[in-house]
Amino acid sequence: MIDAHIHLDWYNQEDQQQILQDITNSSVEGLIAVSSDSKSCQKVWDLHIQNQYVYPAFGWHPEQPIPSKAELEQIEAMIRKHHKNLVAIGEVGLPYYKRQEDTRIHLQPYLEILERFILLAKEFDLPIVLHAIYEDAELVCDLLEKHRIKKAHFHWFKGSSSILNRMMKNKYMISITPDCLYEKEIQEIIRQYPLELLMVETDGPWQFEGPFKDKMTHPKMIKYSIKMISETKEKSSESVEDLITFNTKKFYEI
Ligand SMILES: [Zn+2]
Repeated sequence: MIDAHIHLDWYNQEDQQQILQDITNSSVEGLIAVSSDSKSCQKVWDLHIQNQYVYPAFGWHPEQPIPSKAELEQIEAMIRKHHKNLVAIGEVGLPYYKRQEDTRIHLQPYLEILERFILLAKEFDLPIVLHAIYEDAELVCDLLEKHRIKKAHFHWFKGSSSILNRMMKNKYMISITPDCLYEKEIQEIIRQYPLELLMVETDGPWQFEGPFKDKMTHPKMIKYSIKMISETKEKSSESVEDLITFNTKKFYEI
């Protein structure tokens, strides 16, 4: 199994080392490690050098204030330098939660940053990892379609059936988080979205509720999501695990 989205650089060093040790001895055989800014890209790169099963993606996380020009240039320079060893551009997208807190935030500069990363994904033919939920996903689909981007992964997706249908038509991937065990909204998305376009992720170190309350988010938690998906889709968990692992490897070319 592969954790299709984790912020490995956000864990403390002890937990990081524990996770890296565990993935060499468990059924989790790889991590798609996304980045959130230039420092994060460097940390993710160092973790990839340390462990070949940490697959790096470089980007700028949208749930933060607009970065300086120099910061964006630095991330772009790192993408240009390492693109052959990156599995994706990400995490990038639009600041949904930040706009819930402060409605005065202008979206335009975020759209421009996102478009810059979309163009880099296109230039280097890399998949793009998106933080785009609810109505933001429509705007992101507009940009992806404008640039004819085929390989897009909407991580921890939440949104209406109409946007799900649009994403399905474009064959965009989504990934399911461990909250599928207790969130009806996520269970409904599993029901609607085809198995061929699903992956699983933790978005660690983000902490979950329900059976995961107060537990450190660990990539091995994806096995519970696979179980939930297999029950919802009425398929054996072995076949779902195989297919989801296949989907992830094919999408990220690992
Ligand atoms: Zn994330």
